[in-house]
Amino acid sequence: MKALKERILRDGKCFEGGILKVDNFINHQMDPVLMKSMAVEFVRRFASTDINKVMTIEASGIAPAIMVGYLLELPVVFAKKKRPSTMENMLTTMVYSFTKDRSYEVCVSRDYLCPGDRVLFIDDFLANGNAAKGVIDLVQQAGAELVGMGFLIEKAFQHGGDYLRQQGIHVESLAIIESLENCEIKIRE
Ligand code: 5GP
Repeated sequence: MKALKERILRDGKCFEGGILKVDNFINHQMDPVLMKSMAVEFVRRFASTDINKVMTIEASGIAPAIMVGYLLELPVVFAKKKRPSTMENMLTTMVYSFTKDRSYEVCVSRDYLCPGDRVLFIDDFLANGNAAKGVIDLVQQAGAELVGMGFLIEKAFQHGGDYLRQQGIHVESLAIIESLENCEIKIRE
């Protein structure tokens, strides 16, 4: 998506270990106009998919997911990173975060991820695919169906996208980063 690629090249910053910082418009300050355009693009790309629920993981996935849910007029459920004492019918899974170098538990209630749900997962980044694998596990535990995964930014050099596509999952990424070597951002045309 042209506008996102241009914005990454303009405002994105590279960090050691293949991390792209986009705090200027996604992860800290947010640009709602760009966020809306990205959601419109997801709606276009998943137009032929039968979806009844949008899902994400807190925190950075919530903004794009709610934009998509708003456009599709569908509920948005986010997996939580802290186990709330009040959550009923809890499903849990473990996710390894390479940016934080630790594993954490994510949970969602069966009340909101239900058997037969046709789930579109939306997140900010796809790197090694660990968060995505956690979501696949939660969706399976719930007896729901994962019908697609949409990412604002995919880092192709970490190969999470290869794994998901090999599983036959419909994956759409709005900008694909080929490399961040020598702190130079290379985006796929
Ligand atoms: P994965 O589980 O695919 O390895 O990583 C995905 C998660 O890690 C995303 O939800 C995102 O929060 C975080 N992440 C991975 N790579 C980056 C990155 O380069 N920049 C930022 N800001 N977050 C990242």
